[in-house]
Amino acid sequence: MRIKKVLVSGGAGYIGTHTCIELIDAGYDIICADNFSNSSPVAMKRVEQITGARIPVHRMDFCKLDEVEALFREEAIDAAIHFAGYKAVGESVAKPLMYYENNLLSLINLCKAMGRNTARNIVFSSSATVYGLSDRLPLTEETPTEAYSSYGRTKLYIEEILKDLHAAEPGWNMSVLRYFNPVGAHPSGLIGEDPADIPNNLMPYIAQVAVGRLEKLRIFGDDYDTPDGTGVRDFIHVVDLARGHVAALRKLEEEPGYTVHNLGTGKGCSVLELVHAFERVNNVPIPYEITARRPGDVAANYASTDKARRELGWEATHTIDDMVRDTWNWQSKNPNGYRDATE
Ligand code: NAD
Ligand code: UDP
Repeated sequence: MRIKKVLVSGGAGYIGTHTCIELIDAGYDIICADNFSNSSPVAMKRVEQITGARIPVHRMDFCKLDEVEALFREEAIDAAIHFAGYKAVGESVAKPLMYYENNLLSLINLCKAMGRNTARNIVFSSSATVYGLSDRLPLTEETPTEAYSSYGRTKLYIEEILKDLHAAEPGWNMSVLRYFNPVGAHPSGLIGEDPADIPNNLMPYIAQVAVGRLEKLRIFGDDYDTPDGTGVRDFIHVVDLARGHVAALRKLEEEPGYTVHNLGTGKGCSVLELVHAFERVNNVPIPYEITARRPGDVAANYASTDKARRELGWEATHTIDDMVRDTWNWQSKNPNGYRDATE
């Protein structure tokens, strides 16, 4: 079936905003729905500024079934990209019920409301965290899955829920996308990652050190079995990741049933390589110290990108230099994220 109107749940968030832009560029009509628990309405204004489009934005909570059903009654939605959910690994360990409730219930409510539709197409944001501590690289979609945090388990359980739903109702088409490490920002510098608290992830931490909000980076371990001893990850530019969603939607039009794809670059980059690239490209110093390993971290991971290339016709094109340049462009123009915005 031809997909025209796409619901973007959690569309005001980091990956959601970038995906809205790529969807509009690709000619889709979009509807954004978000409760702004981890985002700002300003972000959607900026998406409108970048695209020149007027985007319907619904302030709503996917944990409230009546709100989700009302939205589906109001709009003829052909497909949903489901970003809405909580994503902080450490917080999920401290507050498991909050994570299970928000991540599982929002997905279940979306599927319930959508299940009454003739169009049952969904793209779901999963994560490379479902590969657990596997050290057989690259990680393929066939690598056994396991999770080490409540957050990771919400992703695994949702994958299972979707699989069961597809088995029971084969009319569904589902694209599970396992993201590696999304970083970077739109080249306009108008949108980017804006963590509410002190960042847990490496790139936003580096960016906040660069802009002077944080004093120095702590590098968690330099004694891993990697070329320079620091952890290795598959960093992917958020614009490439966003384009992966457009490719996934196009694939859903072929009615493939339940599918899983990695979205990564296939290339590992170490923590120190990333820090040095940021300093070199942006000409900004990043003071750092080496500290103990962070519990639960793997030495290295990176994606096998074969399946996404073959089946979605998609691959990442941005380099590490693009990622650090665009991150700094966003952070230096918006030192406090969206908080200082006047629109
Ligand atoms: P984000 O927090 O920036 O975006 C999520 C959005 O969902 C936010 O705007 C938030 O306000 C909204 N939201 C949360 N719960 C909601 C609810 N119940 N109802 C309505 N809106 C709700 O996160 P992101 O980085 O854009 O991530 C998007 C998705 O991708 C998440 O599911 C995340 O788990 C997944 N993911 C992210 C990464 C990453 O590193 N950023 C990696 C792998 C997977
Ligand atoms: N990292 C670090 N200091 C930080 C944050 C992260 O050294 O303040 C390291 C971390 O140990 C890992 C890599 O950077 O090797 C990527 O961590 P991140 O939390 O960004 O992603 P994930 O662990 O989910 O892959």
